[in-house]
Amino acid sequence: MHYKQSKRILIKVGSALISPSGVGCSAKHTLPIARFIHQCQQDGKQVILVSSGSVAAGRQHISLSEDKPSLAQKQAMAAVGQNAMMSNWIRFFDAPCAQILLTHADLENRESYLNIRNTLNELLDNNILPIVNENDSVATEELKVGDNDRLAAMVAILSGADLFMIASDVNGLYSSDPNLNPDAEHLPLIKKITPEIIAKAGGTTNKLATGGMKTKIDAAIKATSLGIDTLLFNGSDPSNFEKFVQGESIGTCFQSDAEKISARKHWVKHTLNTKGKIHINLGAVNAINDSGASLLSIGVSSVYGRFGKGDAVDLICQTSGKLIARGITQYSHDAIKQIKGIHSDQFETILGYFDSDVIIERDDLVLMRTK
Ligand code: GLU
Repeated sequence: MHYKQSKRILIKVGSALISPSGVGCSAKHTLPIARFIHQCQQDGKQVILVSSGSVAAGRQHISLSEDKPSLAQKQAMAAVGQNAMMSNWIRFFDAPCAQILLTHADLENRESYLNIRNTLNELLDNNILPIVNENDSVATEELKVGDNDRLAAMVAILSGADLFMIASDVNGLYSSDPNLNPDAEHLPLIKKITPEIIAKAGGTTNKLATGGMKTKIDAAIKATSLGIDTLLFNGSDPSNFEKFVQGESIGTCFQSDAEKISARKHWVKHTLNTKGKIHINLGAVNAINDSGASLLSIGVSSVYGRFGKGDAVDLICQTSGKLIARGITQYSHDAIKQIKGIHSDQFETILGYFDSDVIIERDDLVLMRTK
């Protein structure tokens, strides 16, 4: 994936870049990164930033009896440091920035998954930079995503990013550990992440960061398997951003398998149990089949079964009775009964809330036509 082609970029910035000394936040690397984000926005791209660094930023405020902080101490560091980390970014932008803090549970739950996605879309449509981090102060071990490489990959998938950039303090992947082997060769392009590649990855050496090369490769596996090109590069070298914008290759690019782009759709089609049926009119059948449209309330004729927001439902043609598509709904059966046939301007008045202007988004729809 080249800079030019990408439309929605997720950039993950690790603690080593935010807090190079391990204490507090610094502009040293974040300023050039902010300039790059600004340039992307100027070039009409949408950017989501996943930023670590809250623990490092809060470290100085929590007194430690031992070198290694306890979980509660880390959570306290994150609570006080999150503000500092956000302020460190916000000062570089004229445009507004938004904070989103997530736990694993939020990403597991289909309803909040959709809410997070809707929120991100809304922020991006309003030219706001979403800055995402794990909600470290409240997440217990079981609820933790664990590391921000993984969190960033999950958000890249959820948000439909087409490029996932992992800004780190390493130049990418090498044939062996470059710290130990001076002959280690830099690997600019990985077409397939094989067990040998995985074996090259080591753990973290940074006390404040959770991830290491291993978690970066895991994140690349996750993202590329769902069609998102992943770039691991050295974010502490500002020339990398200039080169990348000029179309030069930087770091290590993990190429996505284009055929796998439909993995999510495959999942909707084959794995999800549907909880109900929505009968749709011919206009909606044609729009969905031929024009790649979302399902609008105007296309709904009747609703069967009990389902909630985030559940999978079958879309049936009311005239032929044929199964047309399957999708994940933005509204419950109850809500759809109230808003069917009605313009989305009226949703809030009728329901008392507004989640989406469509019933099922195109990205959450798969056609069930048999060939
Ligand atoms: N969420 C952690 C923080 O803000 C970072 C986790 C990680 O380094 O992967 O400090």
